[in-house]
Amino acid sequence: MVSEHTEVPDGDVGYENTADPVWAGRALDLYQQRLLQVAAFETDGVVSAQVWGRCPRCGHEIDDQLILTTPVVGNGRGLLAIVTGRGRDKVKIPPMVEAGCGCGRAHPGAPNRPDGSAEAVLGCGVSFYLPTTQPDAPGPCGLRDSS
Ligand SMILES: [Zn+2]
Ligand SMILES: [Zn+2]
Repeated sequence: MVSEHTEVPDGDVGYENTADPVWAGRALDLYQQRLLQVAAFETDGVVSAQVWGRCPRCGHEIDDQLILTTPVVGNGRGLLAIVTGRGRDKVKIPPMVEAGCGCGRAHPGAPNRPDGSAEAVLGCGVSFYLPTTQPDAPGPCGLRDSS
């Protein structure tokens, strides 16, 4: 009925669980400008990433800690070792990570947390993909093996 899509005041966007490509595009813009940054690293076979900077949707500061892969323990290493030709349990950092808004604020309309608490979900609900490589650099050492 009423189109309330006027300028959203900073910090007051309603919660929306969205992965619309428009946000991914905006995230990439911010990423190129280094306003939104990604660092992916591997520790003991666990690939994790940190995403920090400005949320492409709500504009708040976000600081996400993401766990991308967990090590395959035991006899799961055989096939991967054959495919990659490596004998070690080398974990690859994926070229893209999925991040979400982790601004730490409850936005209007946010649902309650899935853990059953009465607290609202924090963040504006947007999720987007970001490359783990730096915009103008080949990235951290060890990322050149792209095949
Ligand atoms: Zn926010
Ligand atoms: Zn947000």
